[in-house]
Amino acid sequence: MPGPFFYPLNLMTESRYNVIIIGGGVVGLAVALEITRRFPNLRLLVLEKEDGVARHQSGRNSGVIHSGIYYKPGSLKARLCVSGAAAMVEFCREHGVPFQVCGKVIVATHADELPRLEALRQQGEANGLTGLRLISPEELREIEPHASGLQALLVPSTGITDYAVVCQKYAELISAAGGTVLTSAPATSIRRSANEIVVETPRGAFSAGSLINCAGLFSDRISRMAGDEPSAMIVPFRGEYYDLVPERASLVRALIYPVPDPRFPFLGVHFTRRITGKVDAGPNAVLAFAREGYRATDINLRDSASALAFPGFWRMAFRHWRNGFAEWYRSLSKPAFVRELQRMLPEIRGNDLVPGGSGVRAQALKPDGALVDDFQFVPSGKVLHVLNVPSPAATASLTIAQAIVDTAKFLTD
Ligand SMILES: Cc1cc2nc3c(=O)[nH]c(=O)nc-3n(C[C@H](O)[C@H](O)[C@H](O)COP(=O)(O)OP(=O)(O)OC[C@H]3O[C@@H](n4cnc5c(N)ncnc54)[C@H](O)[C@@H]3O)c2cc1C
Repeated sequence: MPGPFFYPLNLMTESRYNVIIIGGGVVGLAVALEITRRFPNLRLLVLEKEDGVARHQSGRNSGVIHSGIYYKPGSLKARLCVSGAAAMVEFCREHGVPFQVCGKVIVATHADELPRLEALRQQGEANGLTGLRLISPEELREIEPHASGLQALLVPSTGITDYAVVCQKYAELISAAGGTVLTSAPATSIRRSANEIVVETPRGAFSAGSLINCAGLFSDRISRMAGDEPSAMIVPFRGEYYDLVPERASLVRALIYPVPDPRFPFLGVHFTRRITGKVDAGPNAVLAFAREGYRATDINLRDSASALAFPGFWRMAFRHWRNGFAEWYRSLSKPAFVRELQRMLPEIRGNDLVPGGSGVRAQALKPDGALVDDFQFVPSGKVLHVLNVPSPAATASLTIAQAIVDTAKFLTD
């Protein structure tokens, strides 16, 4: 986790801005950076409720620079991930952020996954990826000596980095360009009039001509705070990781993934070698009872009650109960989690794994119970709500920022 990250601010003299961004995660910071690059004269403020940036999704993820293979051709996710991955690699190289383009293997372990693996290859090619190759079990063992499967797909452009470090760098560049990132400043209310938006925080009230809501797990609530009715509700899905004990980290060279279930937006538990050299396994995807509920015991009554009162929640639960139950069971039972991993890495044992970190994904859910698949940006006058930016939004943050700034035409009105 990044250390405290404070930016002093003279509240008496600096409370009027051209644009305020709520949320100091990878998306809010990338948007702020893009604005400082395109419109250097705009006075810009990022408000972050925690005492540092990247304290939620952006600092608690798998650290993968996704290739773009998983997303429907033509979707924002596909377009922005493929170009965003290249931009992320370039950004890390230019700014000395540790990264590695290590490639990954997606492993089919059941016969019924083979057509899906081929479909993924074709989809990746349609999205513009190069170097994709279906490989035999023998070739798989040359790349990942301990992995086993019927066939695998080699994705050479996948990489790894640390998005908390990326966020620190974004924040430094924003400050160097004259923008302000103010931490420990939760937005508690928003007032809108024809020419002005006022955001109240415990550190003072700040006004601006325009506002961009990048509040992640709370983006629907910020939307309502700004007087809009969000078209979807954020549902929190916790992802739990196990760490491989250091003596067994050599079982995994880079990234080993299963073939994902196409009905679900999550990728299935996988092995990830982190940029620090540590290897972890996960994350699963269990419904959380709190939007920032990083432990199974974390319960927030407001979060739980609002989810239960939303009709889409029950429709989703009805539609996906079988999958949801399996994820929940694997969350409670380490042997079940280990069995899932053994499909790809038969040598892994329970003793090789110790509890690791966790993260909570913000996933938008429609009233009809469908999970919003693509990125979603919703303009409302001089406000723009970024309502659905799940994975691969960290990878794609720089190109998402370009798309958001293109959409926010009001910035230069
Ligand atoms: C377990 C997990 C694994 C993932 N793995 C990957 C991966 O490998 N690669 C990848 O590309 N993506 C991955 N993702 C997705 C990626 O992390 C997210 O899509 C991305 O971080 C979203 O960024 P964000 O800025 O929207 O959200 P966040 O990082 O959650 O930022 C939102 C910010 O808004 C702040 N905020 C909220 N309310 C207020 C308020 N009232 N006032 C002020 N501030 C407020 C929060 O404190 C927070 O800092 C993963 C996500 C998870 C959870």
